Amino acid sequence: MLDVLDLCGNPSSVHAEGRRMRGIVESAREQVAALAGARPSEVVFTSGATEANVWAVTRWPRVIAGGIEHESVLAPARIAPRFVSLPVSAEGVVDLQALAAGLAEATAADDDTLVAMQLANNETGALQPVEDAANMVREHGFALHTDAVQACGRIAVDFHALGADLMSLSSHKIGGPMGAGALIIRDGLNRPPLIPGGGQERRRRAGTESVAVIAGFGAAAEAAHAGRDAMQRVTRLRDHLEREVLRLTPDAIIVSRRAPRLGNTSCIALPGAKAETLVITLDLAGIAVSAGAACSSGKVGSSHVLAAMGLSPAIAESAIRVSLSPGTSEDDIAALVRAWTAIAAKAAATA
Ligand code: PLP
Repeated sequence: MLDVLDLCGNPSSVHAEGRRMRGIVESAREQVAALAGARPSEVVFTSGATEANVWAVTRWPRVIAGGIEHESVLAPARIAPRFVSLPVSAEGVVDLQALAAGLAEATAADDDTLVAMQLANNETGALQPVEDAANMVREHGFALHTDAVQACGRIAVDFHALGADLMSLSSHKIGGPMGAGALIIRDGLNRPPLIPGGGQERRRRAGTESVAVIAGFGAAAEAAHAGRDAMQRVTRLRDHLEREVLRLTPDAIIVSRRAPRLGNTSCIALPGAKAETLVITLDLAGIAVSAGAACSSGKVGSSHVLAAMGLSPAIAESAIRVSLSPGTSEDDIAALVRAWTAIAAKAAATA
């Protein structure tokens, strides 16, 4: 990526510099396609997953989506002429019976319908039954979009095996630079372009490509693909952390613990505590965690995900999210456990 910053040339130009840049973009497209189990022709580069989600979800007469989707899915879904929000279980998994009812209603109304179901939730890590949903959606002749931002690089993702029509990815969630993402559009599915203008991305997303950032996204996709086995070690570290948290604070709640989950995510609620205070205490110990959906705001607000799961506001407001990566070490987890020991002592003193 840094090497590409020193190059000049527009990938749409036919001279040698332009062709070199085109080659870099197309290599990155192959790397991203390989990570997602898609064909390179199906990968459209965007500025990130927010853009990809908004593009996927807009301009459908009816959108059906789980109440735990990311705001970049829910916001465009809410402005569809008809929007149906699906309930989730207490473990944070979308209810497929409600989806079946929603699909029957859409068929009766003769609405061209998009179902949006994320692969993994960004606050709890809970995996969603996307393959089953895609089978149901296909029977009704509708389309399915999956936000694979959190899942990609953490579990094996295969766009075609899932049976999805659209899928969004984000570079910075797999260790790449911010400012790149992709919408994967199944070959044959006709979506109106989000940004009309020049002929880039086969007329689907106009604007000169940000080649260095795309190169970084491609490199991150290749590294994530090659390093998939690292998630087993990450899951062991995460499980150890959760055992220690429950030993130190037995009334802590590990949200979605009984659902199939990503191995790198832990959503911990500590009844009686305030997430904001926990985040600051851990920050002072050099540990960066978030409260609620930090990527959407930076503010500590109430979580629509935990509310949809039926957690009381008091519990939801005590929940933090810890994310591990292949770079997380045993020492990092030990430092968090030490900081949690102090948190537990303080909680016991004020109880
Ligand atoms: N979808 C999910 C599940 C996310 O967690 C995020 C951000 O964290 C996004 C979409 C938005 O991605 P981006 O930051 O690339 O716009």
